[in-house]
Amino acid sequence: MLIVQKFGGTSVGDLERIQNVANRVSESKKKGDKIVVVVSAMSGETNKLVSYADNYSKNPNRAEMDMLLSSGERVTASLLSIALNEMGFSTISMSGERAGIVTDTAHNKARIEEINPKNIEDALAEDKIVVIAGFQGISIDGYVTTLGRGGSDLSAVAVAGALKADLCEIYTDVSGIYTTDPRIEPKAKKLDKISYEEMLELASLGAKVLQNRSVEMAKKLNVNLVTRTSFSNEEGTLITKEKYIMEKPLVSGIALDKNQARISLMGVNDKPGIASDIFNKLAQNDVNIDMIIQNKAHDGTTNIDFTVPKNDLNDAKSIVDDFLQNGDIKADSYNEKICKVSIVGVGMKSHSGVAAKAFTTMANQNINISMISTSEIKVSMVIDEEFAELAVRSLHDAYELEK
Ligand code: ASP
Ligand code: MG
Repeated sequence: MLIVQKFGGTSVGDLERIQNVANRVSESKKKGDKIVVVVSAMSGETNKLVSYADNYSKNPNRAEMDMLLSSGERVTASLLSIALNEMGFSTISMSGERAGIVTDTAHNKARIEEINPKNIEDALAEDKIVVIAGFQGISIDGYVTTLGRGGSDLSAVAVAGALKADLCEIYTDVSGIYTTDPRIEPKAKKLDKISYEEMLELASLGAKVLQNRSVEMAKKLNVNLVTRTSFSNEEGTLITKEKYIMEKPLVSGIALDKNQARISLMGVNDKPGIASDIFNKLAQNDVNIDMIIQNKAHDGTTNIDFTVPKNDLNDAKSIVDDFLQNGDIKADSYNEKICKVSIVGVGMKSHSGVAAKAFTTMANQNINISMISTSEIKVSMVIDEEFAELAVRSLHDAYELEK
């Protein structure tokens, strides 16, 4: 087997932990697998480098920042390679450039354009363990780039895709993906398997475990992803194609998003093009819209309600103000004390009554649902923020996710 193993910042957080990672890598290697390792910087290191630059400039040159930040991952890659070498393995560490990770020119948030894995493949053919510095690449015009914070997950998945690896293991300090946040519901259970689609919908549960962009890339490149902890031998969660999941649970998990705010527009001039006008303006200002509801009012106008991330609220308000001024909207109101609770599961595609059960569960707790949206594999409800935890626990119970 060819396995890509990625170790995050806490897993390589100090010199002793790097030695532990070397031990773990060596076990895999001894099983006869070909191993490519991708590493993050030691935890806290990237922030430290950012603060160093901050000392000299509030607005440092982005290309210089990439030179600076990419160094953190080189430190861990070379140290791990040295440690493994000392244990008797033939190893080589590579920068993103040497690993053939080619990106666009958007410094600090570069997108991977292609991977030229020849150097990696040559080293593997010589039976070497290849250790790659994550989070970085080389732009098409030859400068060092970084992929955005948390980007070494993306490096690992992209490399796994390019090498057609059998598995991409992401090692963190969390043991996998849970049915819901265990801090809210201690009965939450670790999932053995979950589909890419479910994982993307459950982003809030995976947030501390896996970067969403890397799940999207894994889906695109058909990379079998496993998230697991580097601190024990506990099995993790496999994120894979739906067709490889035999028993499809009705509901796989419950996600909670507390970062939403609701905007209500009343007396909206009911004419063709008005929704287009409002939402194009919002999009142009990078306001991210989630749910939208439109209702006809009695006086020939309509009401439009939608949700945005809390930190986009001010931008959204100033755009709404323009429409109030020119009379296309009569009144507006805002509510930041909301949250979005979602149930997610591929099984609901082929079963009825899944959504009804969620609504009944809310009713039994006397929780009012103010907005609903659904997709093939998701039912989301907007409710009062104060009921967030209660809603999550009741739903977890209702779908028997602790079983
Ligand atoms: N070291 C980088 C960061 O902290 C990349 C990563 O850890 O994935 O964002
Ligand atoms: Mg990370």
